[in-house]
Amino acid sequence: MMQKMILPINIYSDEVLKKKARPMKGVDSSTAELIDAMFESMRNASGIGLAAPQVGHSIRLLVVDVSCMKEHAAEKPMIVINPHIQSARGANTMEEGCLSVPGVLGDVVRPSAITLKYRDEHFQERTGEFSGMLARVLQHEIDHLDGTLFVERLDKRERRKIQIRLDELSAGIVDAAYPHSREILPEAPAE
Ligand SMILES: [Zn+2]
Repeated sequence: MMQKMILPINIYSDEVLKKKARPMKGVDSSTAELIDAMFESMRNASGIGLAAPQVGHSIRLLVVDVSCMKEHAAEKPMIVINPHIQSARGANTMEEGCLSVPGVLGDVVRPSAITLKYRDEHFQERTGEFSGMLARVLQHEIDHLDGTLFVERLDKRERRKIQIRLDELSAGIVDAAYPHSREILPEAPAE
C-alpha cells in the first residue's frame, strides 16, 4: 500500500499565506497526488477545509470535507479549482478557526449563501449554490487563495483579544497536534 502523505501546514506570518495564488491551467497526475495529500493532511489535523497555499503551493486549489461534523455527515468532499464567487447573498456571523492559525477562534461576518463557479478535479467547469456551513468554509478557503486569513476579517475588539496569540505564532511559538512549518523536527535517536 502506498504511504499516506501528510504535508506540514504553513503557519501565520509565513509568506506563502500572504500571496495571491495563481490560477491552474489544467490537472495531471501530480495534481491528483497533491489533492490526496491535502485531504490526508486536513483530516490528520481534524480540519474541514484546506487551501493549497497552506501546504506551500501557491495555486488556486482547495479541498473541503465537512462530513466529520454530525449535522453535515451527508455532505460529500469537494475539490475546488480556480473558484470564482459569482454572487453572494445575506450575511451571518460564525466562529471560525484555521489550521494555519492554531489556538485562535473568532467571529467572522460573511455572506450566508454564494453562487460559485469553479472547476472540479477533472478540470470540468461547474456552478453550484452553497449556503450554511459549506458556504462558510468555501469562502474561508477562497480567502486563502487571495492571501487573506480569517483573523484579518475580525472586528477590532475580537482582533485585540487574539493579538498576543498572533504575536506568539509570528515568533514561532506554535502548539499544534499536526506537522507544521515552524516545527523543529526531533533529532534522530542516536544508535
Ligand atoms: Zn484557514
